[in-house]
Amino acid sequence: MPELSIGSALAAARGRIPASEARMFLCRLLGIGAAQVAAYPERGLSTEQSSHYAAWVERRGAGEPMAYILGEREFYGRRFKVSPAVLIPRPETELIVDLVRERIGSRGAPRILDLGTGSGALAVTLALEIPEARVTAVDLSPAALAVAHGNAASLGAEVRFIESDWFAAVDATGFDFIVSNPPYIADEDPHLNIGDVRFEPRTALASGPAGLDDLRRIVREAPAFLAPGGWLLMEHGYDQAAMVRDLLVSSGFQEVASALDLAGIERTSYGCRP
Ligand code: GLN
Repeated sequence: MPELSIGSALAAARGRIPASEARMFLCRLLGIGAAQVAAYPERGLSTEQSSHYAAWVERRGAGEPMAYILGEREFYGRRFKVSPAVLIPRPETELIVDLVRERIGSRGAPRILDLGTGSGALAVTLALEIPEARVTAVDLSPAALAVAHGNAASLGAEVRFIESDWFAAVDATGFDFIVSNPPYIADEDPHLNIGDVRFEPRTALASGPAGLDDLRRIVREAPAFLAPGGWLLMEHGYDQAAMVRDLLVSSGFQEVASALDLAGIERTSYGCRP
């Protein structure tokens, strides 16, 4: 691998990956900001940096998500480590954090359960944003739990992790909040074959013929694990809000409603156990 300069590296990526992503790779490799990448095209990369760069451009050109190549993604203002064992945290999921914060009220030390924690983005963020909260997080995948553990440790959050198929191994009840970003895409949805999701764990994405299998199960089982007045909040697909509200009403939840994400899509639905 010949040694590249910033300018020749950007030129080599042209037509293969977006220029903004090539600049991100250079920022990371050289430990500098975007302004310096733009200002010093003649600055050289070492042989090692050059070959890393070439490999990253190759992987990105083949469609691999930026978050997996860089090994991290920001969520609610913090950097989370990610690997192909976990779903890449998405900005619309931050909505759940805001909705929980709005509902804390006078609950002294709320008990929170995160189902299918993946990278731990929701559980760790809630633990850090609500310092008096006691947070439990479950996932079916040991590999995902290892990633979540690492994030809790490096971000300084105290979270109790349990390997569990949804509620199956949860050994406590009386939660004030149960939150989840479960899989909710229909098994045959062509969206699963496009872009980043091709590289993400299928078990974190797809959930039966209508994408509702896991949402249904969570709504059905949640009341037994909630304290009276406790809330269940779940992310779902862009066209599933009415169905999820119906599920919540059928399970006896009250104050059932949906909240819009930043794109104006009904993205999270919730209800309160009477
Ligand atoms: N929102 C993600 C997507 O459509 C899916 C995440 C999920 O299934 N929980 O790519």
